[in-house]
This record gives sequence, structure tokens and C-alpha cells, in this order.
Amino acid sequence: MKDPKDSKARLDALRADIERRNPAQPEFHQAVREVLETLAPVFAARPEYAVAGLVERLCEPERQIIFRVPWTDDHGHVQVNRGYRVEFNSALGPYKGGLRFHPSVDIGVVKFLGFEQIFKNALTGLGIGGGKGGSDFDPRGRSDAEVMRFCQSFMTELQRHIGEHTDVPAGDIGVGGREIGYLFGQYRRITNRWEAGVLTGKGRGWGGSAIRPEATGYGAVLFAAEMLKLKGIGLEGRTAVVSGSGNVAIYTIEKLHKLGAHPLTCSDSQGYVLDEKGIDIELLKQIKEVERGRVSDYAARRGGSARYVPGGRVWEVAAEVAFPSATQNELDVQDARALIANGVKAVSEGANMPTTPEAVRILQEAGVAFGPGKAANAGGVAVSALEMSQNAARVSWTAERVEQELAGIMRDIHAVCHETAERYGAPGDYVTGANIAGFERVADAMLAQGII
Ligand code: GLU
Repeated sequence: MKDPKDSKARLDALRADIERRNPAQPEFHQAVREVLETLAPVFAARPEYAVAGLVERLCEPERQIIFRVPWTDDHGHVQVNRGYRVEFNSALGPYKGGLRFHPSVDIGVVKFLGFEQIFKNALTGLGIGGGKGGSDFDPRGRSDAEVMRFCQSFMTELQRHIGEHTDVPAGDIGVGGREIGYLFGQYRRITNRWEAGVLTGKGRGWGGSAIRPEATGYGAVLFAAEMLKLKGIGLEGRTAVVSGSGNVAIYTIEKLHKLGAHPLTCSDSQGYVLDEKGIDIELLKQIKEVERGRVSDYAARRGGSARYVPGGRVWEVAAEVAFPSATQNELDVQDARALIANGVKAVSEGANMPTTPEAVRILQEAGVAFGPGKAANAGGVAVSALEMSQNAARVSWTAERVEQELAGIMRDIHAVCHETAERYGAPGDYVTGANIAGFERVADAMLAQGII
């Protein structure tokens, strides 16, 4: 297996086999392909990883749970959704990863997210395995009471599979503080245990960590700052485009302001806002977090400096740094070309797999520093792991302390991705660096623990 060509042939065969055995799961295929494509040099350099079955085991979830979630809406009608939890890999610690409530959720989406989470969590260095879950439930337009009943029904089944030492869910798209509260309440009621460490993203007053809501967005900005630093550029004074208007986008925008950059945009599935004066973070939080409104409301209320572009894509706005922070495959080849034409210097993925593989390639070839989500958005799950530590010790750290830890973790992730890429002859390629560095940590643990 010394010849990288042999490794490549074996990995190609494995990929074909995975696609055959997991039909109609395009996002999972994409996530696996992207990792396998970067691993061939590792097998050539480190024959101990070339043992039969290691990568095969890595690509097969340890456990996949699918369940019925019945609930009654405000009109007394019974609704039936589907719930998922994919416990992908626990070599480094309890399964850890968010829950996504969105109509697009199916087993392929949950598996892609769970697979990515393995490497991301390994990169944090914090002893957490990879998992992900969710439902095709759409919280948009539902009353608080409906969301509560749905969460209670979802947890009534999920509770038998999770635990602070087993599997620790958190939020993702459609699951924020409100949903985590209802889920935690039902877990506590059924189990009669105050087990704070069973979920992360809890409210600050009942076991949640300071800076957890901010962590993913703040981390994505810190990662961008590290990439730019190596190019001899500071973030201060730079223009930025941000997509999305959920938790990740909001705190990306907030951190950009704090570091003296100019975040010009935010978006939702219907269009985007361009605000020449920079997005007003308080107004955006009020509309999105309090009123659960749309970004078109932002433009209407902001006045002169903001323009709403229905159906448009933020990537057409000229800026020096880009933060795709909405959802998978939201930035394609055409968008990448537009960003490059406008002189973008760095792209830092706040969302999971938001850039299509072809767009990643074009950006990298143009010399744009590209931070893949596994590395760039790992700040969220990292602070989740710090929340677990605080819960286990029954302590609560100050915001200053958590923020300092987060900054150190993001610096370390950037450094390990950068060094690993150099070590494998791909300087500046953070995709290769993140995949290989994450893989090495998980693979070492899996090899030590035997064939299980
Ligand atoms: N859903 C987030 C992610 O994609 C956070 C997961 C967590 O905090 O467990 O990493």
C-alpha cells in the first residue's frame, strides 16, 4: 500500500461500495467523497492506517435510530413526523452533535452531518465522538405550544438512547434555546434525573455555558482571522458577506463588528439584505430571535442604508471575506466565480458543507484561503464540550474565561490544519489539513480499541 495510486484505487472502490449500499443519500455521498479524496497520501505515508476495515468502519455509523414522532397541533389534528439520531462514532468520547428540525431532514442528511461531526469534534481535541439527529418537523409558523408538544414527543423516544456518558445532543438549524428547554424538561420528567450534561445549549440559568450561543459564529470569524493573518492581512476594516440569519450568522456578524470589520449582508431562504452601513445587530436579533421574522422585515425597518433583494444570493455582493452560514450547498460554482471576480480573500464556512466541491476547488485554485466547516465552525461544538465539563464539575465559568478558551481552541484547530496540510505536501489546503488531522486522531483511537 506504499504507492498512493494503490490507496486511491482502494478508496475509489470503497466509495463506489458506499454509494451502492446507501442509495438516495446524495449529501452523505458528497461528505464521504470529500474526505476519502484527501486520504490517499495518508495511507501511502502511514501504512498502519491501511489495515483492512478501518475506513470501512469509519464510514458505517455505529448505530442509526429512526422513530415516529406523533403530536397534536393547535387544531386538534394529529401530525406525524420522523425522528432520527445517528450515533456515528464514539472512539473519542460520547456521541456529540446537534439536532436539526427542518423539512429537508432525512437519513442521508443526518448521516452527512454525523460523518462531518466525527472529524470536526476530533479537531477540537476535547474528547467527543460524532453524532447527529433531527426531524423533518418544520418549526416555522408553529406556535410555542405546538413546538413544545413536538419536542416532548420527540424526547419521549430519544431519551432511551441518550445520556451524559452516551450521547449528548445540542441545537442545529431549527433547534435553539427554546427547543433545548422543552427537550430538557421532558428528559428530566421521564428520567427523574437532573442530568445537566445530557444536552448542551441550555439556558444560562440552568446549566448552560456562557458564550455557547455565540460560539459557532465567533469561532468562524476567529478562524478567518487566523487564515488572513498568514496572508499578512488583518480583519479590521474588511468588508464581509454573510449568508443566513440564524444563530451562526447573527454571531458571525456580531464578532465581525467587534473586530472592526464591515458585515454587509444577511439572508434567508427568500432573499437577502444588503446594508451599506453594516448590518445592525440589535435590529437583526430583535427580528430573528424575538419576533421570529424574516430578513425582509429588517430592510423595511432599517430605513435608507438597507436594501432587500428578493430571490438574490449574497455572493453577488463585493466583499473581501465570505461566511456561508446558512445551509449545505448554498455556494456553487457561479457564486465562487462571482466572489473571486470581486476579490474575495478568504471564505470561512459557518454552516456545514455550504460550499459545493467544485466551488471549493475553484476558490482554492484562485488562491482564496478556504476554511472548511469541519474546522471553521468547530467553535460551537467546542463550547458544547466545555459546557459538558462545567456540568460535570458543577461549576459555571465566566464569559471571559469561555471566550478565551474558545479563542485558544480555534487557534489550535487552525494550526493543526495548516501544519497537517504542509506535512502532506498541500500547503494552504485547509480541506486536506482538516480531513487528515481529524482522521488521524479518530483512526489512532479506533486502532487502539480493536475491531468493534
Ligand atoms: N450543530 C452544531 C454543529 O454543527 C453544534 C453541535 C453541538 O454543539 O453539539 O457542530
